[in-house]
Amino acid sequence: MSEKTLFQKIIDREIPADIVYEDEFCAAFRDIQPQAPVHILIVPKKPIPRVGDAVAEDQAQLGALLLAAGKVAEAEGVRSTDKGFRLVINQGRDGGETVPHLHVHLLAGRPLEWPPG
Ligand code: 5GP
Repeated sequence: MSEKTLFQKIIDREIPADIVYEDEFCAAFRDIQPQAPVHILIVPKKPIPRVGDAVAEDQAQLGALLLAAGKVAEAEGVRSTDKGFRLVINQGRDGGETVPHLHVHLLAGRPLEWPPG
């Protein structure tokens, strides 16, 4: 069996993190180096390395990430359109991926620039 990813260890409570949401398919916890007042990572329990590696059988896992994002945004008080949030998935070197376990960044709590840097 391959070694657990960092985020699997967080989901399994082997490494501490501020877990704010969990369901059958995914968990969400605060980023250790927040880039905005609200910065939460939404992570599938299945260790899909990155979005480009997902396959058809991962459809429920992938859908669960976006449904969880809405719930987390609501819980953080940023779901309404007068506030709002941004979801980001980084893949590979140019995308800025550093942890090879798929995750959606939920960023909120300040105006976010577009295009991103
Ligand atoms: P990526 O660069 O792969 O898109 O995002 C990885 C994210 O994981 C980064 O924003 C980084 O701050 C966060 N991160 C890395 N290690 C840990 C950790 O041990 N705990 C938590 N909560 N976040 C982490």
